[in-house]
Amino acid sequence: MMVVFIFILGLFVGSFLNVVVLRLHRQESFVKGYSKCLFCGHRLYARDLVPLFSYLQLRGKCRYCKHGFSAQYPMVELATGLTFALVFTNIFPHFTQMTLVWQDWVQFFLWLTMTAFLIIVFIYDLKYYLILDVVVIPAAILAFIFNMLLGVNPLSMLLAAVVGGGFFLIQYVVSKGKWIGGGDIRLGFLMGIILGWPQILTALFIAYVLGSLISVGLLLFSKKHMSDKVPFGTFLAIATFLTMLYGQQLVHWYMNLFN
Ligand SMILES: [Zn+2]
Repeated sequence: MMVVFIFILGLFVGSFLNVVVLRLHRQESFVKGYSKCLFCGHRLYARDLVPLFSYLQLRGKCRYCKHGFSAQYPMVELATGLTFALVFTNIFPHFTQMTLVWQDWVQFFLWLTMTAFLIIVFIYDLKYYLILDVVVIPAAILAFIFNMLLGVNPLSMLLAAVVGGGFFLIQYVVSKGKWIGGGDIRLGFLMGIILGWPQILTALFIAYVLGSLISVGLLLFSKKHMSDKVPFGTFLAIATFLTMLYGQQLVHWYMNLFN
């Protein structure tokens, strides 16, 4: 089955995304150089780097120094595999219709690429409370070009980008940069380019619902305090992914609640 192949592809891409996050943080090149254990520096070979499998086989430890690796690695691999599979089943619900329309393939490639960028935003903001321009800006350019190819009205994208970016710019100005960072403004802009008008509104709405639910949950279990920083880019990344795939259905479902 094709979806299994896409899932496995996602596992490998997830493994690469872990490397990208690490090397972005250390400001190293992520194309050059081989993988090393973070603790003993031993070179890691292919058999140490099989997504999910190596982690499970070695029970989360380095083969050479037995130091434990973060559960982030297998979790990101699995999440990338699953989200890639979701993108595939969303665009190609029926296997037999898979190869017919070139626009579907452009859409598929765009959504896989955006999923990968959003996963980087998600992890990076969660770990380091930062949204990097080197991630957001190339993603915005790619999304703009591919959406143009797909016949999306550029005005719809620009309106959504201005609304998305402006929404955070206002909060940034009002709070003098305390509630959110400049990275959120650029991420709001990217969300607009990916989703267009009016789906940007759906995504912002979902992000706030998710953000409130999780913040209240964390406050109740006293893992966080009111004054703690919130990695809002993490919620925005999830909301963008959900809206990209299910925006139409979500709006439809929400509207039906009131009818
Ligand atoms: Zn080691």
